[in-house]
Amino acid sequence: TNNDGSDKKKVLNVGTEATFAPFEFMDKGEMTGFDVDLLNALAKEAGYEVKMENTGWDAMFAGLQSEQLDIGIAGITMDEDRKKTYDFSSPYFESISMIVFKEGTDIQNAEDLKGKKVGVQNGTTGQFSAEAVVGKNSSDISKYETAALMFQALQSKNVEAVVTDIAVALEYEKNNPDSGVQTAVDENQFKSEYYGIAFPKGSELRDEFDQALVTLFENGKYEEIYKKWFNN
Ligand code: GLN
Repeated sequence: TNNDGSDKKKVLNVGTEATFAPFEFMDKGEMTGFDVDLLNALAKEAGYEVKMENTGWDAMFAGLQSEQLDIGIAGITMDEDRKKTYDFSSPYFESISMIVFKEGTDIQNAEDLKGKKVGVQNGTTGQFSAEAVVGKNSSDISKYETAALMFQALQSKNVEAVVTDIAVALEYEKNNPDSGVQTAVDENQFKSEYYGIAFPKGSELRDEFDQALVTLFENGKYEEIYKKWFNN
């Protein structure tokens, strides 16, 4: 029962950036993906309805800060900077930066990005990873608003390589078999990252969703969702 005495479940506003397959993306007009399934399962467990909106990356963070959004989920890496501004759930997914490039480009490791035109999604850890190699204000780095625009820049050869999250890089390679892209990891240069669900600072929802996450880890639901998106 809600504060107003009704039995209607509270609807939470959720922001995301839905060009980030397999985590969140549009399929025939519907938003789908690992994060979408996870969030729906968590909300069900915690007793909420959710309304997910493709706000875009920057607007998602702005919406959390202004508390117009209750939740942000978008493969968001919990880095020290973001932890200062937002509260996060427990980690739910491990990631690392990966380099994607066209066949025939000479890239074996992160060092090989030097002197090349590199595309990143603006304000993501892919940008920070690339900058750590080629320099923070390097004019060789082009920043795109969405992951989709970043991959388009690679296809149209506006950039020679992009740096993004490993699962997204591998999904892109799998979904675009004729695009002639290759991938490279560099575990000496890039470090593990962990995704968390973001909440406005001080949100009471964080603990409720964290508890629900523990339940999904224990009752097999997390594994079921994981297998749906990563074991085929
Ligand atoms: N995990 C990366 C980050 O948090 C990228 C997330 C995304 O592009 N949706 O910066």
